[in-house]
Amino acid sequence: MKKQMLLCNVGIILIGFVAAFLTATVLVQNQYQEEFTNRLNAALAVISTQEDEVTRHPQQLALQMGNSLHSAGQPMRITVLDRMGNVVGDSEKEDIRENHYDRPEIVQAREGGYGYDTRRSASVGVPFYYAAVQLGSGYYLRAALPLEDLERTIRKMWLDALLGVLFGVIMVSIASSLFVSWLSQPLKRMSEAAKKLSRGDFQTRVRGKFNHEFAELAQSFNQMADNTENAVELLRTKQDQLEGVLQGMNDGVLAVNDQNEILFLNRRACSLLDCPGLKAGDKLDGSLLLTRLADLLAEAVRTGEPASHELSDLPEDQKYTVYTAPMDGQKTPAALAVVTDVTRIRKLEQLRSEFVSNVTHELKTPLTSIRGSIELLKSGNRDEETRRYFYDVLDIEAERLHHLIDDMLVLSQIENAKEDPSMRPCSVGEALERCLERAMPLTKENQVQLHLDASPDLYVACTPTRLEQLFDNLITNAVKYNVQGGSVLVTAQKQRQTAVIRIRDTGIGIAKEHMPRLFERFYRVDTSRSREIGGTGLGLSIVKHLVALYGGEIGVESVPGKGTAFTVILPLAAKSGADDSLL
Ligand code: ADP
Repeated sequence: MKKQMLLCNVGIILIGFVAAFLTATVLVQNQYQEEFTNRLNAALAVISTQEDEVTRHPQQLALQMGNSLHSAGQPMRITVLDRMGNVVGDSEKEDIRENHYDRPEIVQAREGGYGYDTRRSASVGVPFYYAAVQLGSGYYLRAALPLEDLERTIRKMWLDALLGVLFGVIMVSIASSLFVSWLSQPLKRMSEAAKKLSRGDFQTRVRGKFNHEFAELAQSFNQMADNTENAVELLRTKQDQLEGVLQGMNDGVLAVNDQNEILFLNRRACSLLDCPGLKAGDKLDGSLLLTRLADLLAEAVRTGEPASHELSDLPEDQKYTVYTAPMDGQKTPAALAVVTDVTRIRKLEQLRSEFVSNVTHELKTPLTSIRGSIELLKSGNRDEETRRYFYDVLDIEAERLHHLIDDMLVLSQIENAKEDPSMRPCSVGEALERCLERAMPLTKENQVQLHLDASPDLYVACTPTRLEQLFDNLITNAVKYNVQGGSVLVTAQKQRQTAVIRIRDTGIGIAKEHMPRLFERFYRVDTSRSREIGGTGLGLSIVKHLVALYGGEIGVESVPGKGTAFTVILPLAAKSGADDSLL
């Protein structure tokens, strides 16, 4: 740019110089020519005054005039021709026997006035500028100036002018270069700033002082840079927010183009699809799950319709829903997938439906029995003994219903509780003693021996009724699922900072395959026996939730036919105190 400006500038000025040089040189040359003509004319005019001498002594006059002019510093050749054009006198050479009648200047002079010509002299052999005039006597007077002088002068003039032009061009080039550099400096600074801006340095600005239009240009540039920086900042913030939302989502989000290349994906997508290394730009394949997802996305691209799918045959019984939709506004066709892990929801749904069917079943059984008994009581005359029997059945079934509803209520209270607000230090020994007392009628009925060996001063943070409910369930089970003449040993000891309560019986035991589901609601090992002895199937579930509520653990060991031992570990609390502080 700078170079072009410089060349342009110098070129224009050079053209001007050359034009001026040519015009001036031609003008000066004409001036010289005119001056030469005037000198010749003047000489001829002066000599013409001596017309008599010209005709009588032409040679002498020519010589005399030639010498006079020479000494006056105006060297000139003077020639006299007679009427026929014969040379009769010449200041340079005598006895020239030549006829110049047809010479151009003589022909012109004969026609009247002065005649001129420029040519090489045949007699002297050098070029001359001739001027001739015809006198009244018919003689011709001719004056000639050697052209050498004129040519030398003109040559010198050309040379001087050329040197002048050369000097001028050099000076103009230097001046132009400085001027162009001064002129292009702000442009250069702005161009550098623009380059930085285009490379992504949005904080760049043009600083310093600018003159005139450049100041406006610099201001506009800085304004534009401000706007660009703000726009980019806004975009970045929005992108960060979007990225934050996407990365923070509990659902996996990913998008692919029609070449199955990943456009973006969030961390959750990587973990759900079990491919931590997957990143934007990769192909969506490499595992069965990824290939299935790629197929669903390809379908969304092809049909242009959103769709929902459920993937269920996944490892570890996982279940995903996949929502696919085409993405608008992309350069190439693309589709988006939102992958949601619905394993827990489906499990809960399944548990809920199982729970409903279990509750219905549990309620239906005693209700059927109650309705049957009532029907039988209503129909016909029954003797007193039969009536009493049905009243007993009604009593037992109503009691069973009562138990069931009670247990369900307790379970619903503790199931989702995070903590017990009425917790306080409770004596484990005292709670166990009360439980054993309550279990006495049942032990007698089942002929089971019950022993207690509890360390005093064992305190745990609980609500006393809840703690007793926990022990009641385990002790009652140990008695219920025992054998005639069997025994139950309840121990409570301190181990580190915990109270370890163990209820060991010599009962029927539990087979290994039942262990994993033992604490589930309504799960019974032997359904008929449990019902027979009035079990609801909720006891162990209540125990499990109570232990969890008080931050403890529960374990079970059993040998079928030999007995079962439940171990409850609860964190110890201070005996009592104003602040009820936990240990
Ligand atoms: P239920 O009301 O039927 O006793 P639980 O939840 O208390 O319900 O017990 C679930 C099942 O676990 C029982 O039906 C029984 O089959 C089995 N079980 C519980 N405790 C014992 C034990 N000490 N010995 C043998 N089996 C037991």
